[in-house]
Amino acid sequence: MLQPKNSILGRLEIVPPAIFFIFILMETTTPLHNQVVFCDFDGTITAVETFSGMLSHFSPALSAKLMPQMYSRHLSLREGVRRLVESIPSSSYCEILEYSAQQPIREGLAEFLSFLQKQNIPFIIVSGGLRGMIEKVLEVNGLTNLVTDIYALEVETDEQYLKVYSAFEEGTELVAKSEVMKQYVAQETIAIGDSVTDINMSLSADFVFARDRLITYLESEEKSYLVWNDFFDILESFKQKCFFS
Ligand SMILES: [Mg+2]
Repeated sequence: MLQPKNSILGRLEIVPPAIFFIFILMETTTPLHNQVVFCDFDGTITAVETFSGMLSHFSPALSAKLMPQMYSRHLSLREGVRRLVESIPSSSYCEILEYSAQQPIREGLAEFLSFLQKQNIPFIIVSGGLRGMIEKVLEVNGLTNLVTDIYALEVETDEQYLKVYSAFEEGTELVAKSEVMKQYVAQETIAIGDSVTDINMSLSADFVFARDRLITYLESEEKSYLVWNDFFDILESFKQKCFFS
């Protein structure tokens, strides 16, 4: 028997699809996070260029030849980094991780990460370096559980020489950082970086903390940024929320 639309049962008939529609709308339009922080690793988390330092140490002759070509942009990072990493014998991988363990990190990182965790703000490391090196640095500094995720180069050590893999290889980059950012839905995205490899990530972000050469690049792109020196500076900005809209 058909129920008239103004009866209770008649109204209930239209409720389930309406709720379903609202649910779908929320799923597709509501950000999963209020803020997400995307952070470079080399020269940003570490106080020195760990990855290029490692390449110079373990592949000195080829580094001397290819690095100037990469800096002058005559050779893409995608091709140059792959050639360099894949020139290193797999037998050196443990030594590479030990090399990473000795690299100093910038002050205030533990305090900043603890703050983000309490605020439920994801902290994503996005790097063109080796994932194993990043994990080693986090491990020796007791920070592993404070980092939400890591996007970086994966290596295989089964063959005689290291083999490089990246799920975000695109254009001239082995790890296209702005593509990684698309994996997250947030009201506000925050980028932290120091160099040319952070330009696209910074241009895609709502707010940028820049140091070193990244400042010059962002000036030329007319992208606003906040200067930082160590993670205590960034923590202070988060506490004051001075950059949030
Ligand atoms: Mg860097």
